[in-house]
Amino acid sequence: MPQIAGYELYTIESGRFGLDGGAMFGIIPKPMWEKYLQADARNRIPMNMRCLLLVGNNRVILIDNGLGDKFNAKFSDIYAVDTEMFNLRRSLKNHDIQPEDVTDVILSHLHFDHAGGSTTRKDGKLVTTFPNAVYHVQATHWDWATQKPNIRERNSFLHENLAPLADSGQLQFQPGSGTLFEGIETLVIHGHTPGQQMIKVSDQSQTLVFTADLIPTVAHVPSIWVMGYDLEPLVTIAEKDLFLKQAAEQNWKIMYDHDPLSEISDIVWTERGPIGIHPRPLYDL
Ligand SMILES: [Zn+2]
Repeated sequence: MPQIAGYELYTIESGRFGLDGGAMFGIIPKPMWEKYLQADARNRIPMNMRCLLLVGNNRVILIDNGLGDKFNAKFSDIYAVDTEMFNLRRSLKNHDIQPEDVTDVILSHLHFDHAGGSTTRKDGKLVTTFPNAVYHVQATHWDWATQKPNIRERNSFLHENLAPLADSGQLQFQPGSGTLFEGIETLVIHGHTPGQQMIKVSDQSQTLVFTADLIPTVAHVPSIWVMGYDLEPLVTIAEKDLFLKQAAEQNWKIMYDHDPLSEISDIVWTERGPIGIHPRPLYDL
């Protein structure tokens, strides 16, 4: 399995769900995005909720955790939730990791499909899923999500995911981009939602970046392929171009959170801008 900076890297699939294909691809016409992902009868495309697990240096670090296990039938129907094929606990167990073993949870942002697995119901009470973990969130994003969230985004910030975290004493707020641990850096971006953080894992020979919802699938690499969900699409385009130019120059590998087909890829910069090439599983890093 791949190793970077003393960590073993594993893909953790936490489940699948469906989102409206039009909303996922913004201004890109359906005949174009449909070549990559087929929509169902309700125009939803299948999305993975892929997390990254780092084990090493006396830490077990989980990056994002999917939508969790607290959803009801209505939610499951709207979002075509499928946690049969994969779910968070089972995927962790496949690598001999129990929730108690996790030392750190890094949340890219607090939308329900990234942070919902942070909490669970136990004996009728909402509790943190990882009782011994420090949960790392950008301070600006926490405030954005919890202090009067805007009308357009508030259905993505669910009380049941965030309130138990607020009360847990396990939250650690990050003050911006920077080194979290040796070999692990956060890169803060704002186009999708203010204060989102990407996670860069690197040493002298390799760099992998978990780009979260800046680039949810390999189809979102080209500059104008931006989600309709993004609050500031022009900011996303600028952030993506800046980041991907560096990724192409320095041979960084990109990990996609929502791509049902590709876990990682390389980036090349062409006359027409960035494209993702050599899509493959993480274990072929
Ligand atoms: Zn998001």
